[in-house]
Amino acid sequence: MGIKGGYTRLAYPGEKSCILCDRVYYGKDLCFKHYQQKKKTGDPIGYPYERLGDKYHKGTYNSWHAMRQRCYNPSQVSYPNYGGRGITVCDRWLYSYLAFYEDMGLRPEGRSIDRIDVNGNYELGNCRWATKLEQDENKRPRRSR
Ligand SMILES: [Zn+2]
Repeated sequence: MGIKGGYTRLAYPGEKSCILCDRVYYGKDLCFKHYQQKKKTGDPIGYPYERLGDKYHKGTYNSWHAMRQRCYNPSQVSYPNYGGRGITVCDRWLYSYLAFYEDMGLRPEGRSIDRIDVNGNYELGNCRWATKLEQDENKRPRRSR
């Protein structure tokens, strides 16, 4: 132990914080606590995805990670289009890569996570692994509005 409170305090408004909680930023998108957890287990929330085979899980894990970044890290360039617009990740996925993997399966080659309703949140039923083309189609403004 011997960790000073300074590392684990909550971030002040506007200050960079952990993508998983409200504590002050330490490194690699994380607070001290989650950073340590990641170092120890390979996953900030304690799920060592490497054990399942990094080769197969890396893309899926990256999508999960990037999704949370877009929604909860204001220093991300794409944040204004996601978190800034009130888009959230459901609690089940937010805190568990495993839950996300259980619901969505592995990311197929050349696809990325896409919201079926572009104003909806990241949650089961509103997400699919889409090709670039499908994503662009989906982003096109609806003529009926
Ligand atoms: Zn944290």
